[in-house]
Amino acid sequence: MSTQQTYPIDVESIRQDFPILSRKVGGDVTVAGESENDTEPLVYLDNGATSQTPTQVVDAIVDYYYGYNANVHRGIHQLSQEASVAYEEAHDRVAAFINANGREEIVFTKNTTEAMNLVAYAWGLEALGPGDSVVATEMEHHASLVTWQQICKRTGAEIRYIQIDDEGRLDMDHAAELIDDSTRMVSAVHVSNTLGTVNPVGDLCDLAHEHDAFAFIDGAQAVPTRPVDVKAIDADFYAFSGHKMLGPTGIGVLYGKEEILEAMNPYLYGGEMIRSVTYEDSTWEDLPWKFEAGTPVIEQGIALHAAIDYLDDIGMENVQKHEELLAEYAYDELSAYDDVTIYGPPGDDRGGLVAFNVDGVHAHDLSSILNDYAVAIRAGDHCTQPLHDKLGAPASARASFYIYNTTDEIDRLVEAVDAARQLFA
Ligand code: PLP
Repeated sequence: MSTQQTYPIDVESIRQDFPILSRKVGGDVTVAGESENDTEPLVYLDNGATSQTPTQVVDAIVDYYYGYNANVHRGIHQLSQEASVAYEEAHDRVAAFINANGREEIVFTKNTTEAMNLVAYAWGLEALGPGDSVVATEMEHHASLVTWQQICKRTGAEIRYIQIDDEGRLDMDHAAELIDDSTRMVSAVHVSNTLGTVNPVGDLCDLAHEHDAFAFIDGAQAVPTRPVDVKAIDADFYAFSGHKMLGPTGIGVLYGKEEILEAMNPYLYGGEMIRSVTYEDSTWEDLPWKFEAGTPVIEQGIALHAAIDYLDDIGMENVQKHEELLAEYAYDELSAYDDVTIYGPPGDDRGGLVAFNVDGVHAHDLSSILNDYAVAIRAGDHCTQPLHDKLGAPASARASFYIYNTTDEIDRLVEAVDAARQLFA
């Protein structure tokens, strides 16, 4: 149980920026939000799926719609110019946040999944063929696993998986065996959304480059929770989603090294991405617009800018420390019970999430009982079905933390787990 926990960040003041955290739940589900029957203060521990949104980000969206809503790169009227500048600056802000060279290397997509598919279709379909291999890890999210699996089927390339050890860490000897001169792409998750493992992605990129392969890093759980420097990692591609880092849904980011993006053909065709068109042929806009066909995610880009400002004010080192503190606390509290199995590395060496099972209680039942206690977690395979098969569990319960969570909330999680245990005893 936590006693007067001190945090690396000012959690109480951060919580004031998230009105949703003061709502109560527990009544009937309505589309309209809080109802009279909602009596329990919400404990939101499903941040790995989607984080909550601070007023500063909502304000940025409202300012855009009330002040300068217009399509970008099309009008010479003032509103269009203002929206275009804000949208372009959002790319610059993202570039600075992950230490990319500039906006040319930052493509806005719908989410991480679309960023993966963009590379798989635009690069993979053209570059891969029989005799080539793509090396992924056993802990990939379906966003990368299914995408590369299917592109390999279509192109005749082979897909290989780097195995994990008993603690849920990547077997780097196996990685060195699998990555060879046939390898054209190494695709690895930075922080596993199921195991919490923080992978040595810089080493994986080095291995890929030793064999002239590219490396694609899935940063969906990493960028929201720790400082990420794409140059230090030396990733060729790196992807993440705005909705897991205080931003809105509907925006993801694909980082790609400029020379690689330059050499790739577009993924989607249409307006915004062309320079000139005749009935016979077309030429493409400069990066990154070449990959952003049609009216882009203007509102979402502007809001993501605000979300990054918010996180940067806290400091990503501090965000990481807070995540680690909560993960270790949850790990210790839950592992005190003999009937709890926690997946992934020890508590002091993981990202800010804990996936677990309680003997005799299905994860879905657990999640449903936790919901009665106003504790929101995720139950299922977390889009890592083959990994769950390997772990011998069809599903797991996952608590995932963010900047506004406290150890008191983890205590409420543990109490609710205890209540579920007693119900099923
Ligand atoms: N990769 C990882 C590690 C994730 O956790 C997720 C989301 O859960 C994704 C990819 C896919 O993100 P999105 O659904 O935003 O495309």
